[in-house]
Amino acid sequence: MESREKVVEIRNLEKSFGDLDVLKGVDLDLFREENLVVLGKSGSGKSVLIKIMVGLLKQDSGSMKVFGQEVAKLGKKELNELRLKIGFSFQNSALYDSMTVKENMEFPLVRNEKNLSRKEINMRIEELLDSVGLPQTINQMPSELSGGQKKRIGVARTLILKPEIMLYDEPTAGLDPITCRDINSLILEVRERYKTSSIVITHDLACAKQTGDRMAVLLDGQFKAVGTFEEVFPEATDERIKSFYDYNF
Ligand code: ADP
Ligand code: MG
Repeated sequence: MESREKVVEIRNLEKSFGDLDVLKGVDLDLFREENLVVLGKSGSGKSVLIKIMVGLLKQDSGSMKVFGQEVAKLGKKELNELRLKIGFSFQNSALYDSMTVKENMEFPLVRNEKNLSRKEINMRIEELLDSVGLPQTINQMPSELSGGQKKRIGVARTLILKPEIMLYDEPTAGLDPITCRDINSLILEVRERYKTSSIVITHDLACAKQTGDRMAVLLDGQFKAVGTFEEVFPEATDERIKSFYDYNF
């Protein structure tokens, strides 16, 4: 494992907001083409961590390297270039209600890849809608789609710039169990098809088990357990990790 290429390398990362110490020395690696699940209770700092990864927030100390580059030291132009390689779908990030599915998909593409022809744009949109299993929705409005369909289109839109890293922030929150399973399968299909490296943030242990090569549990501002599902959960001695497992299974 250690010899595999690291696409993200986090060392002793600290972040506070006033008196609130959120990240208190976080260490974590993401390997190429790995699906890494990040678990932790609400407010534990999971979203803050990925915001630091894409330069939306800055750490107080420690290191966050993505593709070997220290994110906090990047200039505006380099940061934009880095962001184009990272697809992030934030919690509650929604489709634009007044645009069709096609227009929603087109938006990031037209803005960031100005040299694409109309034909190339259409081809890329069609390919991605196909890969999320929703080619028939191309001219529909978001209001005509189910919650699960909206999530799938959201994933397709995030993939449109061909990112190397995908960050899924609670992709199955608020979905019923069957739709959750579909989204989990989609996360695995995306990796197969586009060779992405991914961080999946979730509360859902079934999702974690289905999608993750490794789990990382954020507790008290640090990753207290990192490993395969079998390594982290059934054998857990930390009461808080154990109760998480017992509650879900
Ligand atoms: P979660 O693990 O649920 O994603 P977050 O990473 O969103 O949690 O937030 C962790 C903690 O940091 C929370 O207590 C939140 O209120 C606080 N926090 C997050 N962003 C900010 C901010 N920009 N300013 C102040 N506090 C913040
Ligand atoms: Mg969050």
